[in-house]
Amino acid sequence: MSERNSRWKGKKQTFRLETLQVHAAERLKMPPFHPTTVPIYAATAFESERAATLDQIFAGKIPGYVYSRHANPTIEALEETLAVLDHGTTAIAFASGMAALHAAFLSLKLSPGTRLLSSRDLYGATYILFNSLLAPFGVQIEFLDLRDTGLLRAALTKKPRPKGLFLEVMTNPLLHVIDVQSAIELCKRARIPVIVDNTFATPMLTKPLELGAAMVVHSSTKYLGGHGDVTGGVIVVEDRQQGAALRALRKITGAVPSPFDSWLTLRGVKTLSLRTSRIFQNASVVASFLENHPRIERVRYPGLPSHPHHSIARRLFGKRGYGGLVTFQIRNADKRQVLCFMDRLTVINSATTLGDIYSELLYPAISSHRDLSPAHRRSLQIDDNLVRLSVGIEHKDDLTEDLSQALG
Ligand code: PLP
Repeated sequence: MSERNSRWKGKKQTFRLETLQVHAAERLKMPPFHPTTVPIYAATAFESERAATLDQIFAGKIPGYVYSRHANPTIEALEETLAVLDHGTTAIAFASGMAALHAAFLSLKLSPGTRLLSSRDLYGATYILFNSLLAPFGVQIEFLDLRDTGLLRAALTKKPRPKGLFLEVMTNPLLHVIDVQSAIELCKRARIPVIVDNTFATPMLTKPLELGAAMVVHSSTKYLGGHGDVTGGVIVVEDRQQGAALRALRKITGAVPSPFDSWLTLRGVKTLSLRTSRIFQNASVVASFLENHPRIERVRYPGLPSHPHHSIARRLFGKRGYGGLVTFQIRNADKRQVLCFMDRLTVINSATTLGDIYSELLYPAISSHRDLSPAHRRSLQIDDNLVRLSVGIEHKDDLTEDLSQALG
């Protein structure tokens, strides 16, 4: 029993109710029993047995906990797991995927006039982050169609030297599979760090740090959490110093996840491989079903031989699968007809998220890409008859039957 606890022992009766009701439970430690799962340390601050210990923790001389914005055991337990998943040395958890992306970009030490290269095909909010936060600050963001490595090669030779390249492995919502290996190779030669948003592919399909990326970012709201009950993000890095710098950045900006959300994510991560293997199998069945349906104009799924990047996906993902997202266009459907199709779905949720155990359908034109002008959407081929399905773990036949009845 700790010194503090033994000091407490025997004196309980002498404290007043007001004191007991806030202190009693925490002092009742139960050695030698240890929980088999990480407890939720819902504590704002941590005491040390001696004030000198606190001094040393603050000075960074010994590890420990003082304040949950700096470090918390439940959050750290999640971070250790996520670092392992992506084969990094350090993971830094954030309150959301957007908070993680924001920190990743801030860490590049951008300043007015600096250049940042980015894939043109992006999650809508990331695009807005670039245009509404970084561009007004004077950062020049150059959006490239990364399907053409020649464009990247040319952008890397222009001056001033770009501070980094950002890309998503599988783009949202069109599911282009970027040749991450070649893009990283080109950037490595030019000594430009690459930040990869691996949310869609998950560490189950690809580990960009192994290919030489500087940072991997996930919205852990999606496949990592996996149960539609948490919002979170993470950056994983190989370089310990960079990890420490990102941790210091999070301490200042304060975008830490709550211990409860971290615990939920940690619980979700434990079944990531089980969930994704079922999801990837289901997605492959659903994609083939849709490709043969007369009401479907086009299906985009990297596992289909008809997908333009099928061979890149095969090289990048190996035999591990092709992801859980299937994007498709309903033949000749206008906005009203797409909304009717969504209303007719019974098993599949119409929900603005992905990567859950539940199947979820998203209509980009009214949700994730709503803030882009119709002309911009058209230029990205995000047409009004295009929807994105995140396939869940339900029985595959229930999913195809649901789609069949909703398509009519
Ligand atoms: N990156 C991708 C690819 C996403 O799809 C999303 C959200 O959908 C994000 C980042 C942002 O994550 P969050 O909603 O957790 O902030």
